[in-house]
Amino acid sequence: MKKSQPSNFLVHATQPYLCENCGQSVLGGRYNNHCLSCLWSKHLDEDTPGDRASECKGLMEPIGVVQKKGKWRILHQCVNCHKQSVVDSAPDDNFDLIIELSHN
Ligand SMILES: [Zn+2]
Ligand SMILES: [Zn+2]
Repeated sequence: MKKSQPSNFLVHATQPYLCENCGQSVLGGRYNNHCLSCLWSKHLDEDTPGDRASECKGLMEPIGVVQKKGKWRILHQCVNCHKQSVVDSAPDDNFDLIIELSHN
């Protein structure tokens, strides 16, 4: 017997989903599955960005930003298992929020 799960439980790399923090739809690219509006993400990847191997599926809170070669990267921490990860920011990200996080 396979465990049955609601079909919307699975989030695929290219499938949009609704942000569980603010309700915006998230386009979920390969490297950034975070919400452009509030920058929250979801714990989907385990070891490599895009592997979608995580069983956790917890919400990931943006806790800071780092600047690398002139590009902003967002530091996330999973509210469920406390795993941290860093992702590249997307061009459409809420830049005011990135600036705000940079003051932390
Ligand atoms: Zn959001
Ligand atoms: Zn997690």
